[in-house]
Amino acid sequence: MAKLDHRLVDVLGDRTAKVLYDAFAIKTVGDLLHHYPRRYMVRGELSDIAELKEGDEVTILAEVFASTTRQIRGRKGSILEVIVTDGSDKLSLTFFNQAWREKELKVGAQGLFAGKVGLFNKKKQLAHPDYQMIADGSDVDNAVDKFAGKYLPVYSATSKLPSWKITQCMEMAIASLDEVEDYLPDEVRNAHNFPTLQQALVQLHTPADLDHADAARERLTFDEAFLLQLMLVLRKAQLRKLDSVSRKTKSGGILEAFDAALPFELTGGQKNITAEIENDLAQSHPMHRLLQGEVGSGKTIVALRAMLAVVDSGGQAALLAPTEVLAAQHLRTFEKLLGPLAHGGMLDAPTTATQVALITGSQNAAARKSALSLAASGEAGIIIGTHALLGEKIEFSDLGLIVVDEQHRFGVEQRDALKEKAVKPPHLLVMTATPIPRTVAMTVFGDLDVSTLRELPLGRSPITTHVISVLEKPAFLDRAWARISEEVAQGYQAYVVAPRISASENENSDIDFLFGEESKDISSVEELAPRLAGEALAGLRVADLHGRQSAEVKDATMRAFAAGEIDVLVSTTVIEVGVDVANATVMVVMDADRFGVSQLHQLRGRVGRGTSPGLCLLVTNSPPDSPARARLDAVAETLDGFELSRIDLEQRREGDVLGASQSGTRSHLRLLRVLRDEELIERARADAEGIISASPDLSSYPGLAQEIAQLAKDASTDYLDKG
Ligand code: ADP
Ligand code: MG
Repeated sequence: MAKLDHRLVDVLGDRTAKVLYDAFAIKTVGDLLHHYPRRYMVRGELSDIAELKEGDEVTILAEVFASTTRQIRGRKGSILEVIVTDGSDKLSLTFFNQAWREKELKVGAQGLFAGKVGLFNKKKQLAHPDYQMIADGSDVDNAVDKFAGKYLPVYSATSKLPSWKITQCMEMAIASLDEVEDYLPDEVRNAHNFPTLQQALVQLHTPADLDHADAARERLTFDEAFLLQLMLVLRKAQLRKLDSVSRKTKSGGILEAFDAALPFELTGGQKNITAEIENDLAQSHPMHRLLQGEVGSGKTIVALRAMLAVVDSGGQAALLAPTEVLAAQHLRTFEKLLGPLAHGGMLDAPTTATQVALITGSQNAAARKSALSLAASGEAGIIIGTHALLGEKIEFSDLGLIVVDEQHRFGVEQRDALKEKAVKPPHLLVMTATPIPRTVAMTVFGDLDVSTLRELPLGRSPITTHVISVLEKPAFLDRAWARISEEVAQGYQAYVVAPRISASENENSDIDFLFGEESKDISSVEELAPRLAGEALAGLRVADLHGRQSAEVKDATMRAFAAGEIDVLVSTTVIEVGVDVANATVMVVMDADRFGVSQLHQLRGRVGRGTSPGLCLLVTNSPPDSPARARLDAVAETLDGFELSRIDLEQRREGDVLGASQSGTRSHLRLLRVLRDEELIERARADAEGIISASPDLSSYPGLAQEIAQLAKDASTDYLDKG
């Protein structure tokens, strides 16, 4: 009798085992049983040849009507063509170089034939079908039951390994199966009324009826969610055991002084999350928290307050930003918000003051040297930087908190590289600008505590978004430029976003034709900026910004824009995340259909940050009924980033939903769909938490511990080290 971890060779023999391995990397009995059917064919579908469609995986019950063997012209080899009929129609079966089958497929004999319907010379046929002849006098129903079962599973198959053959392998494996130990604790299984693992595996492949198949599938889908959540909860519990420095805020410190000077009041959400974070930081194990929030909800201040709490306790905080534009902007924001509190060491500084250092790859040697020494000496309580922060030469005096801005731009290794620079495991706050649905967060960031900022600061006027179809109304593009001029005339500023830096990069834009032959491309920053400056926006101060410019140029441009010295910034998506200029009120996005839904939401979040209403115009040439247009309409219809991210995720493949961070476990997620199975994931999470609180090291659940250990081994270490 075989166990799940037994090699298939011992059950199915060398040849079959090799075919299964080559096709699907199936090695063990368990691997095979986890090759799940995609769907089932019901026996009632069996016999109607008249209704077969090309591409169908079918099994038919039919009688041999005629058969002929002929030589292939000009080549060696023969073709056996057998015509079968079920009364509704005829179907041809073809076999190459298997003339001997003619003896089995005698005219008048009945049999079951399975294969994929193909077309040849416009006639439907099965090439090399699998078949089972029914001996004269034997019970046809019986034979059908044996060959097809009531519900015939349909598997992902290859030409060498058709679905029916997999069915046969399954049946053999199931027949030889020893008792399967169920890793799922009884209390969990009973609470959900799930079948045992053995029942589930057997019923999934050879279901008595579709209800059984459904129950089996639900149980196995739950298992995927449950094991994953268990790993994440376990990981969280392990973090809790790490020893960190507790960072308590103190009265009369820099945080208090900062709060006193803050020109606005924190929103309710900001206050709650701040309290959560302060509580986390005061613990002697590391905080691992994700702060996700609606665009413009004010995450930066929440992060800054956490950093100041750590400074109060004598430690340092590092802020990792994905781009130099953003790092430089954070420095400006912090200096502005902190005022004299950032003048540590200077004569005018209050005693609580600290310094803010910036470390980027492109800064000059002198600036870098001074920043490095501020970080190493501890004089800088806050160190902002790009990837350059990870460099070997960067040392901290006492790194207590790492804040990662726009976490999706960083990999796990990068976070870990920074952690290494702390004496004890530092606290971690990761921020993401793209809000994601709850169960996606639970799955992707399941080992982090999640704080969500939904509300925007008071006094914001909502952003209005319109889709401008240049296909239908070319003149509307001129109106867009006119709107920019109007806003600028009132003292406001504008963004124009284009998908490309230069014209040569890519094929021409869909909307280039509008400007006639001589202009090749208005969807590139390099062509659009001078063109607008010379024509539609003549007289306005137009500047361009993109990733190929040097850090100095980018920084100077952003500073000038923030200072109101530039009216219109023509840019690529370098401004997508984080850029915060409250005086900008209009954004025009060229070829908007080239951007994703969440990305557009991010982009438009750059306007309407002050008290004046924001306007976002999405310019497209996509036809009214196209999916691209539907996405743009969705963006125009709602300002709810969670809703938009759901739309975005629904259009992606599951692997992309989970992102690269899940690569290790992705192969284990066969049935689970994070958006579809929300309820199940919630239940799995609650159960996983229950189990871990009952037995934090799983010692009361040896079967589960073993299953998790195996999964952890399979998953990339990369994944487990996440967070
Ligand atoms: P995001 O969450 O998109 O990163 P930011 O942190 O950049 O948002 O904040 C957006 C803008 O709102 C900033 O200019 C910030 O100073 C301002 N802001 C943040 N919190 C408040 C508040 N409670 N009241 C008023 N303005 C705020
Ligand atoms: Mg931000």
